[in-house]
Amino acid sequence: MVHDMKMLIGGKWVGSGDTIDVKDPLDNTVIDTVPSGTAKDIDAAITAAVEGYKVNRALPVHERISILRKTADIIEANLEDFARTIAMEGSKTIREARKEAARAAQTIMISAEEARRVVGETIPFSSSPGSENRQGYYFRFPIGVIAAITPFNDPLNLVAHKLGPAIAGGNSVVLKPATVTPLSALKLCEAMMEAGLPANILNCVTGYGAKIGDALVTDPRVRMVSFTGGVEAGQEIVRKAGLKKIGMELGSNTPVIVCADCDLDQAVENSVSGAFWAAGQNCIGVQRIYIEKEIYKKFETLFVSRTRQYKVGPKMEEDCDMGPMINEGEAKRIEKWVNDAVAKGARVLVGGTRNGSIYDPTVLADVPAGSTIDKQEAFAPTVNLYPVENLDEAIAKANDVDFGLHAGIFTSSIDKAFKAINEVEVGGIVINDSSDYRIDMMPFGGVKNSGLGREGIKFALQEMTEPRVVCFNL
Ligand code: NAP
Repeated sequence: MVHDMKMLIGGKWVGSGDTIDVKDPLDNTVIDTVPSGTAKDIDAAITAAVEGYKVNRALPVHERISILRKTADIIEANLEDFARTIAMEGSKTIREARKEAARAAQTIMISAEEARRVVGETIPFSSSPGSENRQGYYFRFPIGVIAAITPFNDPLNLVAHKLGPAIAGGNSVVLKPATVTPLSALKLCEAMMEAGLPANILNCVTGYGAKIGDALVTDPRVRMVSFTGGVEAGQEIVRKAGLKKIGMELGSNTPVIVCADCDLDQAVENSVSGAFWAAGQNCIGVQRIYIEKEIYKKFETLFVSRTRQYKVGPKMEEDCDMGPMINEGEAKRIEKWVNDAVAKGARVLVGGTRNGSIYDPTVLADVPAGSTIDKQEAFAPTVNLYPVENLDEAIAKANDVDFGLHAGIFTSSIDKAFKAINEVEVGGIVINDSSDYRIDMMPFGGVKNSGLGREGIKFALQEMTEPRVVCFNL
């Protein structure tokens, strides 16, 4: 299976001396290698992207649309191959990976559709005394070279969420995918080149963020850093980037509220899936569930029993529900967080066991307020259940963290739903489903430490273009 994948710089597939092994996190077998890019490679990629920007901004929009459509067609025609790559290099089961591959095709197709809707408007200059003889308008201009930095947990679709709108809007890109999952990103680059994207518009440098990140984010030729990843790396990038546009899609510690008047079976089924999708390594995955006390016991029993049914481990098998974590180190980290919470009084209702990189789906009760797993992003297959007196208490506790990406509420009361809509501090709230719901055209992003700006193609296109005013003095 090893092909020794190369990076894409200036329209050529190139190596860089050292290589990095890409391993299947389930058993650590090497499935491929990628170049360990250097600051010199980043410099070459940015130099190419400066040229690529000139090419793409001059490209007629119908040609950008055609290239993006063809890319989406290539993904669709090779869906199983993309899905296998996602599943092999990452944590996802083959069923989860197929969904991601299909969504990535959608994301690129939506980018093609939105490319024709990047519009401006006329400006009523004569509304200002002294400007009676002026006429004009503004249109949206591409921003330039965009650094796209992506995480491991959706190794294809989150890359598509940056490349699609960046190219649709007339920009060029230097992509740096997560070191543990670079193969899906490289395959997407291959598809774009096969679809006819001219050289230099898209460049991809593989390598360690700690080694090459600074060269990318501090270069003044880069006009925007579009980052998806953890809050720590995000904050470091913001500190270093200097005067350039920043898009930050960061983590969360996601709450779901279960009211006594809800459809209990729906609340259990959807919250279990939301907690353990991608082995819990999901920025909108369910981490804290606040349940009105009248139904707490019933909810707990059903939730634990549904969790026990999960088939965990062999992610390429069709009936596997949950794969491993991204590596053993991450599984050991969450094992420690759970053990620390237990030492302070938490109870493990199911799970709490580790085998290499597999951490079993874990449900906790009596989690002490202020413990790490209560306050920080777990990014693991663990979920905390908390009984609450009422909706007011649930909302106060849901908001009592430094994050705010998504939330969910299960209720049959329109008043309760609207109270949560107005009071929960998040970028998106889902009524009668868990927080783990997203389609690729909706605005997506967070408040507080969950980020800055929005993705979702139309919204990313706004971030990746700027208004340019045209004024005629008649
Ligand atoms: P991460 O460790 O922050 O890494 C993300 C990317 O940043 C990787 O490509 C990484 O490279 C790179 N990087 C790390 N330090 C850097 C630096 N100083 N300069 C430049 N680049 C740097 O995150 P992860 O573990 O891959 O992903 C998990 C996190 O992403 C979670 O917090 C999750 O919530 C968040 N996430 C957010 C969203 C959203 O849309 N809001 C979606 C998905 C995931 P290396 O791989 O080489 O370290």
